Formats: sequence, structure tokens, C-alpha cells
Amino acid sequence: MNNASNSLAAVRFEHVSRHFGEVRAVDNISLEIYDGEFFSMLGPSGSGKTTCLRLIAGFEQPSSGKIYLHGAEVSGQPPYERDVNTVFQDYALFPHMTVEQNVGYGLMIKKVPTAERKKRVSDALELVRLPQMAKRRPSQLSGGQRQRIALARALVNRPRVLLLDEPLGALDLKLRQEMQVELKDIQKRVGITFVFVTHDQEEALTMSDRIAVFNAGHVEQIGTPAEIYEHPASAFVAGFVGTSNLVRSDVAQKLTGRAQMFSIRPEKIRMVEIGTPVQDGWTALEGTVREVIYLGMFTRYLVALEGGGELTVVRQNLDETSMDVLSAEGKRVQLTWQRVFDRVLETK
Ligand code: ATP
Repeated sequence: MNNASNSLAAVRFEHVSRHFGEVRAVDNISLEIYDGEFFSMLGPSGSGKTTCLRLIAGFEQPSSGKIYLHGAEVSGQPPYERDVNTVFQDYALFPHMTVEQNVGYGLMIKKVPTAERKKRVSDALELVRLPQMAKRRPSQLSGGQRQRIALARALVNRPRVLLLDEPLGALDLKLRQEMQVELKDIQKRVGITFVFVTHDQEEALTMSDRIAVFNAGHVEQIGTPAEIYEHPASAFVAGFVGTSNLVRSDVAQKLTGRAQMFSIRPEKIRMVEIGTPVQDGWTALEGTVREVIYLGMFTRYLVALEGGGELTVVRQNLDETSMDVLSAEGKRVQLTWQRVFDRVLETK
């Protein structure tokens, strides 16, 4: 890569590793985060996401490799000299200060004149839709409100990159879903690069322009939510993002005649009567419904295949009652899906 492409990226990792003794927390990662995008780092606990965020912020230094922020290499640069801000999961608000003092704290330290400080604090509170809370203390706010204040406190500094470490982790599901939409909306309005760490695949799919899927210190795949979901690059990604049926190559050989491991999403499989004619380009297999899991909006069926192995099928409960779906247990069925939805996988 030349310097011109460096300058396009808000963040660039070149073969970055961070080892703690024997632990390879981050292991030879190269990636680019574009200016103005909502980029998520998604992966299970311990996969190296937070360490990557801390490397960008400057709280950690790489064991090897180089990090660039907007084209400039930042080795050895302390956090306060980097044009980035972090929003932590626990919000880290000062309890003895009011909301507006909390939000304006960074500007006061930087000796921004009072009039400008007041204007910027009020703009930031407006942005997170909490202008009426200026005089309250953090203890007088709900979890979701505290989260927004933490966001306002970071945005008031107008960083070029905002780092968010599981910021919605402490909220209940409904509030978290609301905040996901709101965060994405705020990001679009301010145009700042957001780097968002989460282990929640739905959260990453909802908000991100692109997602990096982490596994054991390395990145398995980077892509848009649709690319990651529809074309998982590995068995790990197929299993971690959404639910997937992974069919091992030996089982695939018996079932479909092709000795290649593949994944097929449960919602792509249709469950029909045995003997239903099969169209060109479709796979058809017979099996027995081993278990029915009724989930209100939809039902999950576990089907044991005659040729070995098991597939999960998901069907929306459009016309069936709960009685109908539950009576499917033990029934012999035919499963069909379009072969274009098979994803041949490499194991890494
Ligand atoms: P989580 O979702 O649980 O926060 P994560 O994907 O963010 O996980 P990291 O916090 O980056 O993962 O940790 C990656 C690995 O590095 C883990 O095995 C962790 O125990 C280890 N690790 C992180 N920081 C240190 C440290 N300061 N000293 C030793 N090991 C560390």
C-alpha cells in the first residue's frame, strides 16, 4: 500500500501483534478502517477485540507491527496526543459532577473558553437528545441516559475516531435495540469514524457498515453485514454470525455426492411432504423431525437426516397454531433448498 491509500484510512493495522507473555491477544492483524465508517469488531470473549481498541487508543503498544491513524504512524504516541476518544461499558462518569460538568470536563481541561464550552456542551446534549438533564447528577439518570451522557462527553471533544467498547452491554434488550438505532443515527449525523466492539452478532449486523470477525487473536473475515452473513469465509464465521447448519465433508459426500464441507442457513430450508417433486437446482433430503422448539414468532425444527447428520430448520409461524407445529415431532419430512444458498467452507 502506498501513502495515498494510508491517508484514506482512519485506522490502519500493518501486521500488528500484541502478546502478553504466552498469550497472543492480537496475532498479526492487518486491517483498514475507512474514514467516516461504522466499523464493528465482533468476536467471542477473549478473541482480542478490546486489545485492538486499546492499541488504537494508545493504552497498549504493539509487540510488533505498525498502526497508522489518518496516514500517520503512531508508535509510542500517548493516548492524549491521538485524535481518538473512548466510550467505556461502565460509562466512567464522575458521580459528584452534574451532567453538564461531566460533558464539559475535557473542554475545561483543554482550557476552552467558557462561552464556547457552554455552546459545545449544549450541542452535545442536544445530539443525544438529553438537553433537559444538564443539571442532574449521574445517579439521577437511567442506564440508557447515562450511556448517552458518556457518548456526549466523548463527542464534545470532536474526535476524528470514536472507540466504543461494548457500550450497550449493561442495558436490557429493549433499550439496547433502541440505542443501536440511535447510535447509528448519531454516527451518520456527526460523520465521525466509529469503532465498535461487541460480542453480539445481531448488534454488529444492525449498526455496522463493515464488520471484522475476530477469533483467537486474528481476524477471520472483514465485510459488510450482508457479505458476512451470506458468504461466511470460514466455518467459524458461519457458526458465530447467525445460526448455521455446518455439514462436514464426509456427511456432505453421503448426502449430496460432493465431499465439501458447506453451511446452509436454517431459514433457507423448506420442510415439505415426502415425495414433493424437486425442482432443478434444489437439494432434497429426507429425515425425521427429532425436536420441535416453539418460539412464538417462529419455530425451530431439528431434523435427523436419513443419510446421517442433523439439520436445523426455521419456519415463521404464518398460518400454523402452536398445536400444529408441536404435532410435527416424529414426522418424516422432505427438506429442500436451492443449491445457490450452499456455502462451501474452508476450515481454518
Ligand atoms: P471480551 O469480549 O471478553 O472483552 P476480547 O475479545 O475483548 O474479550 P481481549 O480483552 O482483547 O479480548 O483479550 C484477549 C486475550 O488477551 C485474552 O486471553 C486476555 O486474557 C488476554 N489479555 C488481555 N489483556 C491482558 C493483559 N494485560 N495481560 C495478560 N493477558 C491479557
